[in-house]
Amino acid sequence: MSNWSHYINKEIPCSCGKTHFCDIRHIAVEENALSNLPAYLNEGAYQKICLICDQNTEKVAGTYVEQILSEHGFTYKKILFTDRELVADERALHTIISELPYDCNLILGIGSGTINDLCKFISFQKAMDYFIVATAPSMDGYASNVAVLTINQVKTTIETHRPKAILADTRILSAAPKRMIAAGVGDILGKYVCLADWKLSHLVTGEYFCDYIYGIMKQAVDAMTNSIDAICIADENAIHIVMESLILAGVGMSFLGNSRPASGSEHHLSHYWEMMFLQRREYCPLHGTKVAIGTVICLFFYHSLPKYLEEADLHSDYVFDKGCWEKSIQEAYELAADEIINLEARVEKNSTKQVEKRKHNLSEYKNEILKMAAELPSTDILISYLKKLDAPYLPKQIAVSANTLKNSIYYAKDLRNRYGILQLLYDIGMQKKAVNDFTAFQEMIP
Ligand SMILES: [Zn+2]
Ligand SMILES: [Zn+2]
Repeated sequence: MSNWSHYINKEIPCSCGKTHFCDIRHIAVEENALSNLPAYLNEGAYQKICLICDQNTEKVAGTYVEQILSEHGFTYKKILFTDRELVADERALHTIISELPYDCNLILGIGSGTINDLCKFISFQKAMDYFIVATAPSMDGYASNVAVLTINQVKTTIETHRPKAILADTRILSAAPKRMIAAGVGDILGKYVCLADWKLSHLVTGEYFCDYIYGIMKQAVDAMTNSIDAICIADENAIHIVMESLILAGVGMSFLGNSRPASGSEHHLSHYWEMMFLQRREYCPLHGTKVAIGTVICLFFYHSLPKYLEEADLHSDYVFDKGCWEKSIQEAYELAADEIINLEARVEKNSTKQVEKRKHNLSEYKNEILKMAAELPSTDILISYLKKLDAPYLPKQIAVSANTLKNSIYYAKDLRNRYGILQLLYDIGMQKKAVNDFTAFQEMIP
């Protein structure tokens, strides 16, 4: 079990040259964690509390939180979302803004991904503190300083702040729906890919890299994969490990100040599919469920790298055809295309100059990159973990069509200016082959 005092509320001078800091005051992952709430509230002298939950989280923890608040003489206002599928978008933000009491000094969120993102963003905008009472070990955003919102139909990652306290009762977490626990596992499994992307980018683009944060994230994923069998039966100790891994991953993001160590190509695929599901008003699987499938795809590509790099001509001339690219983005992103085109105009990551530079470095560090790829877990191992959890592991199992899959492999990389395996495939002209190979792989599996 983690000793959180090693990580939070203290400055950590690091060999990377930065000083890392995570200003979360309390992390309580334990049975009956909510009993700490009155003490945490008194310590911060919070008297005007706004509680935010939805109908599910009200049932599993909200009512109990209200009882604790009343028993200890705290006054509060409750904002209850009644949506069947709550989305962290402009509409939900507007609901909170319009109902938030003007003199509120603490937002107390009760929930997981969506509620946490909403509370994190609003409390940051309003310059007030927030606590999160976790109801499911389903994603790694509890301790991070980034909120992911859907703005103008685009999944947008916004740097904000962290909660002052995370309260996670392991009995509540263990009783969470199995698909939510599997999603949390999926979000952590994604670290294999985003850590590889980060190292890859360090070599190819010269991006900053920190061994200490890399080690923390690796620790989070290793601790969890070692307990995979116990997680499958929702053993309380194993769920404790999942939650601690998720929080640790969030702390790693906090240390850096952005989501780089926890979100790479696997998240870009997930975000792209989510945008398409939302645009088409189709059912959208949980974040970690999609991330897990994105991880299977990206590991498949990492393990195909020896073949792709062999076939690619790293010294051939590349010329960015902006008009053609924009047309493809219009088709692939539909309503969200303008945001993507604006991003490229700002960062020019597909420009001839940047691609040529990356290709040059790729050939320079080819052996190191291939060695790193070979050390990643195989696609089969990932699939075996997900099968044990009864979780989907292929895009077709979550109704990602062949066309959406193709578009995501081609264009999910354009969601952010963050280099990874998908951008590499573009740079070396292997996208078409990658799509064909993965499609054939997927078709082989019944
Ligand atoms: Zn560092
Ligand atoms: Zn995630």
